[in-house]
Amino acid sequence: MTISPIQIARFKAIRRRPYFAPVLYAVRYVEVEGLGTVATDNHGRIYYDPKKIEEWGPDVASAALIHEVGHILRKHGKRAPKDAHHTIWNVAGDCAINCDIAAAGDLQLPPDCCYPSTFGLEDGLLTEQYYKELLDKAEKMRSSGGGKGDQSQPQQGSQQGQGSGSGQPGRGKGAGKARASEGVDPNTAGGGFDGKGCGSGADGQPRPWELPGTSDAVDSKGVEQPARRATAQKIKEHVAQRGTVPGSWSQWADEVLAPPKVDWRKHLQRVLRGTLGVVAGMVDYSYRRVSRRQNSAPDVVLPGFVRPLVRVAVEVDVSGSMPNQWVNDAFAEVRGLAAAAGAAVRLVQVDAAVQSDEVLPPGDRRRLKMHGRGGTDMCVGFRHIFSNRRTSPDVLVVMTDGFTPWPSQKPPRCHVIGLFFTAEGVKGAPSWMTTKILYEPKPAAEGL
Ligand SMILES: [Zn+2]
Repeated sequence: MTISPIQIARFKAIRRRPYFAPVLYAVRYVEVEGLGTVATDNHGRIYYDPKKIEEWGPDVASAALIHEVGHILRKHGKRAPKDAHHTIWNVAGDCAINCDIAAAGDLQLPPDCCYPSTFGLEDGLLTEQYYKELLDKAEKMRSSGGGKGDQSQPQQGSQQGQGSGSGQPGRGKGAGKARASEGVDPNTAGGGFDGKGCGSGADGQPRPWELPGTSDAVDSKGVEQPARRATAQKIKEHVAQRGTVPGSWSQWADEVLAPPKVDWRKHLQRVLRGTLGVVAGMVDYSYRRVSRRQNSAPDVVLPGFVRPLVRVAVEVDVSGSMPNQWVNDAFAEVRGLAAAAGAAVRLVQVDAAVQSDEVLPPGDRRRLKMHGRGGTDMCVGFRHIFSNRRTSPDVLVVMTDGFTPWPSQKPPRCHVIGLFFTAEGVKGAPSWMTTKILYEPKPAAEGL
């Protein structure tokens, strides 16, 4: 049995980038005659033209496969903005991938590829940053009359050499007479190899030759994530053994392996809704009200159904170190959730002493005015809040930076949710606390 050129290329790619092996093994290789290039989709496939693979030879073909793996691992197809200019997004992704490959210096990409330097841009930016820069540049060049290429079909414009008026369109060497310093016109660059683009896995735009649905080996919920994690793991091992991997891949691996960031708002919603539900459920059948069906069982006292009012309290640390904006943001969230459950919120402001104690009815939208701003002792607030059993809450949310003494024991019959404004605060929180949530002013940033 002979080994096909694509198998040889894959083998070579694995030799060159052993840590990409999980992905190079997991993807499906789909032969498309006449494609003229190599491309990928959003569903774990790499499409290839067997003639092109032979023409390139194993070295160049393996580099092209490694390039496509870059699109897959960086999720370029899925990251493409909905209204993206697909060709320019493809070029932006190529810049992010190819500058890493060029910096490593050990692979030979096909001759016509996009690098940041092709457009006079610096190395090492994120795809989103390249995209923005390239869009600006494309816009400028369009308005200055450059890029005569057919913009509705930029790839063909590039192939036919209309863009920069040279025999080597779209790439650095012959990049037009007047604008050498600005680089090539992104309107006509095309992306991929020979300006043919890298498929929907690079720009989000499905092509007619792509197969429908997901491949059985890889999809967004199935094998892709394990393959990504395995790759990240291998990159870390590679760094540990040999010290380095090209470009941003080490950072990429760190981000893939980092524990998922939890949105504090969603976490609080889940916990508070759940807790309100549990508290309500616990007293739904109450002996305080005798059942209407009591007559049917005279010897037994049946519990009656009551709709209890869950008591929600918020203890806010109003010491000097608390950021006003964050506290208001967090408090608005609690108030909204309580209102949805029909509950009033008792608000107790505490620094080293109790500064205020008020009950806000459901739907109250006042902005929280912070009193106090002295030192911090949350114990004072706990003692005050739980001093009267009749008014003590079922759910207490404590908002603090965490630099405070805590009571040694959990108050009885109460779920205590700590919402902390510092990570140190979470670490120093008492173990009896039902839930600890770290507030973050901004949602987690999207990684690679
Ligand atoms: Zn590409």
